[in-house]
Formats: sequence, structure tokens, C-alpha cells
Amino acid sequence: MRTAVVVGAGMAGLATAGALARDGWRVTLLERGAAITAPPTALVLWPNGRRALEALDPGGGWPSIAAPLPDGGVRRPDGQFLVSPHTRPGAGRAPAVVHLQDLYDALVAGLGEHVEIRTGIEVSGVRVHRGQLAVGDGTGYLDADLVVAADGIDSAVRHAFAPEAAAVGSGFAAWQAVIPGHRAPQLETGGETLGAGYRFVSMPLGERAASRGGVYWVATAAGAPRPESPATQLALLRRWFADWHEPVGELLAATRAEDLVPQEVRELRPLPRAYGFRCGTGGVVLLGDAAHAMPHHLGQGACLAFEDAATLRSLVATAEPGPALGQAVQEYDRARRPRTASVVRQTRRMSAVVQARGRLALRARNAALGSLRPRILGHAHGPVTDWQPPD
Ligand SMILES: Cc1cc2nc3c(=O)[nH]c(=O)nc-3n(C[C@H](O)[C@H](O)[C@H](O)COP(=O)(O)OP(=O)(O)OC[C@H]3O[C@@H](n4cnc5c(N)ncnc54)[C@H](O)[C@@H]3O)c2cc1C
Repeated sequence: MRTAVVVGAGMAGLATAGALARDGWRVTLLERGAAITAPPTALVLWPNGRRALEALDPGGGWPSIAAPLPDGGVRRPDGQFLVSPHTRPGAGRAPAVVHLQDLYDALVAGLGEHVEIRTGIEVSGVRVHRGQLAVGDGTGYLDADLVVAADGIDSAVRHAFAPEAAAVGSGFAAWQAVIPGHRAPQLETGGETLGAGYRFVSMPLGERAASRGGVYWVATAAGAPRPESPATQLALLRRWFADWHEPVGELLAATRAEDLVPQEVRELRPLPRAYGFRCGTGGVVLLGDAAHAMPHHLGQGACLAFEDAATLRSLVATAEPGPALGQAVQEYDRARRPRTASVVRQTRRMSAVVQARGRLALRARNAALGSLRPRILGHAHGPVTDWQPPD
């Protein structure tokens, strides 16, 4: 039986482990955390991410956990529209928003009976010994034909195979929160507001179970992450966004310090020189943030991880250990690197838009937004979200 070891039980690892197991692989999923846990936030699933999830698990029930994301356009802090809502595409190509705990529950359910899950295991490295690939967990080695590194931006496996890719700060801090339904203001639509070095995006999560409905928001500020306590950071956010149009103030007022998930925004620079390394009876692939962590401005990190998983699944579907599997590992690299590098380039251009400060820079940015939108801000347009799963 073909064996795969998946390192990391985040969204990328869970999606890949389930898909490989459904195709008959014997899969071991290694997670360093004591349990598989979803952060208490939410995620936008763009059409490419939704298609990838469907391809990975057609019976996964994705539509029932994802709330359609109505178009709220892009505004200035005073409420004036920079990009009107109607410029976004129709419902068939609309994004959706999902609570991460719902998404993790669905991905864990998709692991079925055939994935061996081992938590509390920190992978320390991968070696090839007498022609056999093996994953080290600190106490011993686990043989595998295929090793999937889905261990996030600080991937230990990537450090061994592509040490040139470094995790660096992107020059932003981000705060996310889900305000539960019983204390969240009613929102009809999502919306995005761009200020000078600041951005605020909010969206309703629809009618869901008490702790998973409500409103999700993400705020971004140029600069370093704040060292203060969550309560002080929340007070700072209320001050920074104090004169922004509603519902920004209302949402921050309804947020509690314990809802807040602050983090530094980081990315890989440069990207790894390869995502697939042929060795042993198959090879090692990098997937998700381990391969292409990027700032969250286009909301594509997880969507691309699901694309990675769907592509890998298709390429290794019939590949037997030996030359065929080695070749599939190399094909994975050829299929995924140009695609993800292009999305990373677009994300970096969006970083410049978000970072714009000073009167002249802001005026130029606002004037350019209308024409830039289809190319950069138009997450739901063109090549970024048009991706189709392999047959
Ligand atoms: C503010 C913000 C908003 C975002 N919004 C969106 C959005 O709307 N849409 C979207 O598509 N993306 C979005 N993203 C990006 C998305 O969150 C990431 O791309 C995604 O979480 C990456 O998943 P992953 O499974 O690759 O990595 P991770 O979630 O980092 O998971 C890695 C897992 O590996 C485990 N691990 C690490 N090292 C080891 C080891 N040595 N041994 C064993 N286990 C290990 C970790 O414990 C973890 O469970 C956003 C990101 C941010 C910061």
C-alpha cells in the first residue's frame, strides 16, 4: 500500500490527508499541537478555493457551512465609495465566508477512519536512508513514499529542502475577531475600507450556531505588531478607527478583548526554489503556507493551499512508488510554482495600495483604484479566482 506522511494539521494538511486517504493511501498525519484546533476566526473562500474543496471532497458539505458574501464595495474612512458594490461579479462567481471552526470540523470529518492522527509530535527532519524516505519525530523515523510538508510558514521540512526561503515580516500587523451573533450588530453586507496605512474589512457570517454566527472582521495596520495586552490593543484599535464610517466603530465597540486574534503579518521571501523534491521511492512536496505564505490582502492563502492539495491529489492518483511517483512530485512543482508566484506578485502590489500614506500618495491611490480593481483588488476577477481543478 502507498504510504504518505502529512506534516501539520492546519487547513492544508487536513485537506490533503483526507483526500489521499480517500484515494487509498495509508496516511499518517503528524501535528505538533496537543490537539487539532481551529483559530476562532473566519475565512473568505474565493471561487477557486471553493472549487478546490469540491474537487477534494465532493461530499464535504461545503455549501452548507459557507455563507455567501454580499458585495459591500470599497470605501474611504468617511464612507465615500472608492469602488461601488455593483462593479463586482454576479452571484455565480461570488465568494463565501466560513467560520474556521466549521471548516476544521468538516475537514476533520473528511479524514474518515483511515488516517492515523498523531498529535503532540513535532517533526524534526526528513531523511533518505537506504533508498527509503523517512520522517523524524524526535524519537524515531516513520517511513513514507510521499512526505507532504503542510507545517506552515516556519516549516521544519522546508528548512531542510529549501533553506533559501525565509519567513520575514511584511510590515503589517493584523487583528481578527468573530463577534458572536447575540452581541453583534446586524450587517446586510460585507465591506472593505481603506485609510492611510489602515484597512478594515467586515462581513456577516450568516445564521449559524450561536458561537459561529455573528460578524467577522479583520483590521490591518502598517507597522510592527503591538506588544500590549489584548485589552490595550483593542483600545488602540478603537482610537485608530474612531472617525471611520459605521459599522466600523459599532463593531469595535461590540468586540471584547477575548475575541481578538492579533498577529504579525509574515511572508516567505524569496519563495522556495522548488515545491517538489524527488527522493526515496517518491519525494517531498511543500504545500500551503509552508510553500507560499503571503500577506492576507487578497485572502488567497488558504484557497491556494486547497488548490495545492487538489493538484497533488490528482497528480499522484495513480502513481506507484518509484519513478512514476517521483515524476508526479516534479509535476506538482511545475503545476504550482508559477501559479502561486503570480498570486504572490499581485498580493505584493496590494500591499503597496494598503500601505499608501501621505496626501499625494493617497490621492494617487484613490484615483487609480477604479482601474486597478480588476487587476489587483478584483479578487473575484480574472486569473486569481478563475483557477479550475485538474481533471
Ligand atoms: C489576518 C489573516 C487573514 C486571512 N484571511 C484569509 C482568507 O480570507 N482567505 C484565505 O484563503 N486565506 C486567508 N489567510 C491565509 C490563511 O490563514 C493561511 O494561508 C492558512 O492558514 C495556511 O494554512 P496551512 O495549513 O498551510 O498552515 P497553518 O495554518 O500554519 O498550519 C500548520 C500546522 O502545522 C503544525 N506544525 C508546524 N510545525 C510543525 C512540526 N514541525 N511538526 C508537526 N506539526 C507542525 C502547526 O501546529 C499547524 O497546525 C489569512 C491570513 C491572515 C494572517
